[in-house]
Amino acid sequence: MISDFTLAGARAALRQRDVSALELTNHFLTAIDTLNPVLNAFITVTPDLARAQAAAADAALARGDHGPLTGIPLAIKDLFCTQGVRTTAASRILEPFVPPYESTVSANLLRDGAIFLGKANLDEFAMGSSNATSAFGPVINPWTRAGDNRQLVPGGSSGGSAAAVAARLALGATATDTGGSIRQPASFCGIAGIKPTYGRCSRWGVVAFASSLDQAGPIARTVEDCAILLGSMAGYDAKDSTSANLAVPDFAAACRRGVKGLRIGVPREYRSDDMPAEIETMWQQGLSWLRDAGAEIVDVSLPHTKYGLATYYIVAPAEASSNLARYDGVRYGARSQGADLIDLYENTRAEGFGAEVKRRIMIGTYVLSAGYYDAYYIRAQKVRSLILQDFTNVFAKVDALLTPTAPSAAFGLGERMDDPLKMYFNDVFTVPANMAGIPGMSVPAGLDANGLPLGLQVLGKPFDEETVFAVAQAIETAAQFTTQPSIRAKG
Ligand code: GLN
Repeated sequence: MISDFTLAGARAALRQRDVSALELTNHFLTAIDTLNPVLNAFITVTPDLARAQAAAADAALARGDHGPLTGIPLAIKDLFCTQGVRTTAASRILEPFVPPYESTVSANLLRDGAIFLGKANLDEFAMGSSNATSAFGPVINPWTRAGDNRQLVPGGSSGGSAAAVAARLALGATATDTGGSIRQPASFCGIAGIKPTYGRCSRWGVVAFASSLDQAGPIARTVEDCAILLGSMAGYDAKDSTSANLAVPDFAAACRRGVKGLRIGVPREYRSDDMPAEIETMWQQGLSWLRDAGAEIVDVSLPHTKYGLATYYIVAPAEASSNLARYDGVRYGARSQGADLIDLYENTRAEGFGAEVKRRIMIGTYVLSAGYYDAYYIRAQKVRSLILQDFTNVFAKVDALLTPTAPSAAFGLGERMDDPLKMYFNDVFTVPANMAGIPGMSVPAGLDANGLPLGLQVLGKPFDEETVFAVAQAIETAAQFTTQPSIRAKG
């Protein structure tokens, strides 16, 4: 059954010609037709383009000259510019924007033969933890609590990517992570996702949120599928000055390394009073799986973690306020009329941006303003150095760290919307990795008492995604997580 395919499984079936790229693509397009009205995981679906790409993939497979992803249907977060295909960042201000170019990451996927089903929904400009800030409506999590069919959020900001993959509407998806937007939705939707090291994937053509924190990465059902996707997405790009000029390792091979002899750190600061006991239990379970697989567990301390969230919510809005200054109604996207130029700018931005984006612009402008710059922005940058220093210190002693991904399972749609601080608290375990630029992966580990998935997070040394994959794979193998969400494509 096509719905049961992992990306790796579909790839093998395509190469053996057990299934054609067109069959796969048509299957997913039909599934999207059926379930997208329920889940709202896609903002734009591109069936004609997908079928044309599938026909080309089948021709390549018939000739025997396939790439690593030939014939694999994917969802692309609507933050990656796609040439000739509308790219909205889930904002009214970019609603009519059709990029004249392709982002490097999506171009790399196309080079390797992938098929694009459409553009996945997200929080507006990737700001959020619930996917409820999208101007195109919220995404619904395909999971529901046992015996309770109230709608839950898929997490954010890559909620559309995560919901699409979890509901079997695509074999994998691109995503971005500025403070947790790959790992938290992966955790909420019971799938895997990795934020690579800052600089591993090019940011060129990805709509910018906070440039020193933004990083692209994959979301998929398995650790190996993420490894395959990252292998195509990553790589040096002269068009992004922060892109790392390093060879791309064989990430899929790294999944098979095992964890024997690895030292896994347990940061004692990653405990929060508000955290349900079952998340602590799951964390201990993960550690004992790794111990059983031959790893050594070591207690470590990251003393500046407690400042992570507070400093992230200074640095990220500061950079966002600067990046979003370009949306003035003149150069990109939507334009509102005005009596004069200033009026036009003001009306465009007032009507084009949603409430959360405006909140971030105001916070960012405030912390960058004369008189406050030193007190907030410069101080946050100093603390950021200390957060990185903490990680550097512990990575002298351990190979990777294990923590929970998020302090809760998926919450209800509409919950936490009235209190931005409660929403921001969701990122407590994920933001330190962005502040330090290190890689982090979420892997599904089990279910809570309500039957909702919980993820564990593996953090690694800069540019050592290989160890992250090896550890995540060991957890996946031990967890045997096979439960499926209640809303999913069948057949
Ligand atoms: N939830 C975080 C925020 O709202 C992270 C978002 C992201 O990683 N893009 O900023």
